[in-house]
Amino acid sequence: MSDKFDVIVVGAGPGGYVAAIRAAQLGLKTACVEKWVDDKGAAVLGGTCLNVGCIPSKALLESTHQFHNAQHADVHGIQTGEVSMDVKKMVARKDKIVGNLTMGVAGLFKANGVTLLQGMGKLLADKQVQVTAADGTATVYPAENVILASGSVPVNIPPAPLTEDLILDNEGALNISETPKRLGVIGAGVIGLEMGSVWARLGTEVTVLEAMDDFLAMADKDVAKEAAKIFKKQKLDVKLGALVTGTEVVDGKEVKVTYKDAKGEQEIVVDKLIVAVGRRPQTQGLLADDSGVKLDERGFIFVDGQCRTEAPGVYAIGDSVRGPMLAHKASEEGIMVADIIAGHHAQMNYDVIPSIIYTHPELAWVGKTEQELKAEGVAIKVGKFPFAASGRAMASNDTDGFVKMIADEKTDRILGVHMVGGIVSELIAQAAIAMEFGSTAEDLQLTVFAHPTVSEAVHEAALAVDGHAIHMA
Ligand code: FAD
Repeated sequence: MSDKFDVIVVGAGPGGYVAAIRAAQLGLKTACVEKWVDDKGAAVLGGTCLNVGCIPSKALLESTHQFHNAQHADVHGIQTGEVSMDVKKMVARKDKIVGNLTMGVAGLFKANGVTLLQGMGKLLADKQVQVTAADGTATVYPAENVILASGSVPVNIPPAPLTEDLILDNEGALNISETPKRLGVIGAGVIGLEMGSVWARLGTEVTVLEAMDDFLAMADKDVAKEAAKIFKKQKLDVKLGALVTGTEVVDGKEVKVTYKDAKGEQEIVVDKLIVAVGRRPQTQGLLADDSGVKLDERGFIFVDGQCRTEAPGVYAIGDSVRGPMLAHKASEEGIMVADIIAGHHAQMNYDVIPSIIYTHPELAWVGKTEQELKAEGVAIKVGKFPFAASGRAMASNDTDGFVKMIADEKTDRILGVHMVGGIVSELIAQAAIAMEFGSTAEDLQLTVFAHPTVSEAVHEAALAVDGHAIHMA
C-alpha cells in the first residue's frame, strides 16, 4: 500500500487535469492517473480535447479558413496569384500546437504539485485506486476522495469498420496527409460538419451521410435552416435520412459506401471515409466489481447533480457522465467537485452551457430553443438581427447569419440565444454571462456596446426582442 492522497483523479483530460489542478490549488494532496502514453512511453496529458479533439480540429479549421480567405483575397483588392496548400505542413503545425499544450499541462501539474501516476487506473472498494503501469506492475493508492474522469471513445458502427488509412475515426481524420478528391463523412453532427468543412475548403468533394431526417436536430430550427443553406453553397453535400448499410474497400485505395434513403439503395465511392456517429463513455476496466459505483442504462457513470457517484467520496465528471460531451462542461464539473471536496459551496448551472460548431460561419447557442420553449408552453418574445446589417461584419466581408434572442414574454428574462455568424464562438460568451446573471433583454438594451463591433448584433437582437432594433427596417 502506498502514500495516501486527499484526491486521486483518474484521467487527465479537460475534466481530470482541471480538477487535479484546482484540488492542488486548494491545498489538497492530489494525484492524477493517466494511461495514455506516446510511442516513447511518456504520458499523454490533455485527453481527447487537447490531443485528438477540440484543439487539433480547430487548428485545421483555422488553417483551411486562412486558405479560403487567401483564395478570396481579391475582394479586398489583394492579388495573390494561385494559392496552394501544403497539407503536410498544415498537419505538422497542428501537431506542434498539440505538443505545446500537452507539455503545458505537464508544466501546470509540476507547478501546482500534482503527482502524475502513469498507468491504467482502476477504482477498488473503499476509495482505493489501483494503478497498473505499462510493464504490468500494479500499485494500490488509498485516497480520501476519488474523481473519475475517464472520458469517452468514438462509437464504431458495424457497416463501417475502421481501416488503417481509408475508413477513419476522429483521430485518423485529423491526420489525413493529402487532400482527398472525394470524402465521405458518416454523421452530420459537430465533428462530421467540422471535419467536412476542413476538406471542403481545400477543394474536396464532401458528402455527409446522416441517418436522421432532421438536420442539426439539437439546434434552434432557424439556426439549422440557415446553416443548411450556407453549407449547401459551400458544396458540403449533406444527405439526410441516409442510413449507411455497408462499406467495401476497393483495390485498397477507395471506399464504396452503400446507404438507404427514401428512394432506396444508394451508393457513393470516396477516397476517404470518416465515421463521426458519436462517442460513448469510456469505463472499460475502470471499476472493480465492489467499487460501489454504478453505471446508468446507457453506460454512463451514474451521478447526482453535483457529480457524486453511489460510492461515498467518489465523484465522476466529464464525458463519462450524463450531459453534453463538451470540454468546458467537463472542466467546470472538475472545478465544482474539487471545491466541494475542499469544503466549499459549489454548484454548476447546467442550463447555461454554450454549444458551438466551428464551421464558417460558426453556429453557437446557449439556453433553450424556440421550439423547446413553445413545447413547454412558455410565452416568449423573439428578437433577431442579421449580420448583413452590421457595419463591422460588412467591413470584414463576413455577413452571413444572425443573432436570435429569446426572452420570457412576462419577465423579459433571456431564455436562449442562438447565433450563426463569422466568430459567434466569441459572442456566445456574452449571452452566457448575461443569462448566468439572470439578465433581461432590457439589461442588454441598456448596455453600451462599442462601435463598430460584431457584438453590436447582440445589442440589436436584444432591442429587436421589443421590436426596437435600430439598424433594421
Ligand atoms: P477525455 O478528454 O476523453 O479524457 C479522458 C482521459 O482519461 C484520457 O486521457 C484517457 O486516456 C484517460 N483514461 C480513461 N480511462 C482511464 C483509466 N482507467 N486510467 C487512466 N486513465 C484513463 N468539446 C468542446 O467543448 N469543444 C470542441 O471544440 C470540441 N471539439 C471536439 C472535436 C473532436 C474531433 C472530438 C473527438 C471531440 C471534441 N470535443 C469538443 C469534445 C471534448 O474533446 C470532450 O468533451 C472532452 O475531451 C471531455 O473531457 P474528459 O476529461 O471528460 O475526457
